[in-house]
Amino acid sequence: MSLPPPPPPAQPTVGAGTGMLPRCYRHPDREAGRSCTRCGKSACSECLVQAAVGSHCVDCAKAARPPVATRAKYWNARQHTLVTYVLMAVNIAVFLFVTVSDPSSLGGRGSVSQAQIDLGLNEFFLADRNEWYRLISSGFLHFGVIHLAFNMLMLYQLGQLLERPLGRAKFALLYGASLLGGSFGVLLLTSNPFAITGGASGAVFGLMAGAAIGLHRQGVNIMSTGLGTTLLLNFFITFTVSGISIGGHLGGAVAGAVCGFVMLAPRWKPVPSWAKWATPAAVAVISVLGSVLVVG
Ligand SMILES: [Zn+2]
Ligand SMILES: [Zn+2]
Repeated sequence: MSLPPPPPPAQPTVGAGTGMLPRCYRHPDREAGRSCTRCGKSACSECLVQAAVGSHCVDCAKAARPPVATRAKYWNARQHTLVTYVLMAVNIAVFLFVTVSDPSSLGGRGSVSQAQIDLGLNEFFLADRNEWYRLISSGFLHFGVIHLAFNMLMLYQLGQLLERPLGRAKFALLYGASLLGGSFGVLLLTSNPFAITGGASGAVFGLMAGAAIGLHRQGVNIMSTGLGTTLLLNFFITFTVSGISIGGHLGGAVAGAVCGFVMLAPRWKPVPSWAKWATPAAVAVISVLGSVLVVG
């Protein structure tokens, strides 16, 4: 009679074979389900980045990134409304500067602060002191946070509509021509010589009128886009709410409309390329010369 052999003693197990998963190379406390398809390191799901083929660890992903110059180029190409954002930033920066220099100016038109007097449009300062920078600086000056917010909302929306089709440089030119047209309109139509005028409204009205003319010429019914309603509402506000610069709004709108007519000409009525640059430049020059004549 023989006894069955004793069962072999349990072998102490080491390493693999125990069901233990490898550890993430960045998180030793975590099990790594998969590994980098590039370098083979084991990594947890948080440390693996989905790649075109397989998944890469964060180090390989970082190493595979294009150089800074290339990434800057890609970033630049994605910014379709960069000029719009820069213009908004300048308006907001000027507003912050004015508010910090005199916090009581935050509310609105109650009192005009020194910074607002320094930047605003006024015939006397142009005529007697030759402070012609005011033709431009007044376009970035606002009276109260509501005035600023309203103009920035309009600028944002119109920038989304116009900057991409026009391109950055032409969009900036359209804005500048409208701003100067607005200043010319203020000087032409403001009867109160003591008034300090400011705001992006002239430039924004120019964008609005330019977009309306351009869309109309391209066969778009602007009343169906919401732009027509916005335009009518704004003209209604211009003529019914007191304290609003009618001259600034009208001047900006006329300047923007002239520019938009040429710059946004439909493909079937082509305009020479140089004219799309020359028109806003001419409108800007005429606005400045007109301002000098009106004041002088
Ligand atoms: Zn790797
Ligand atoms: Zn990890």
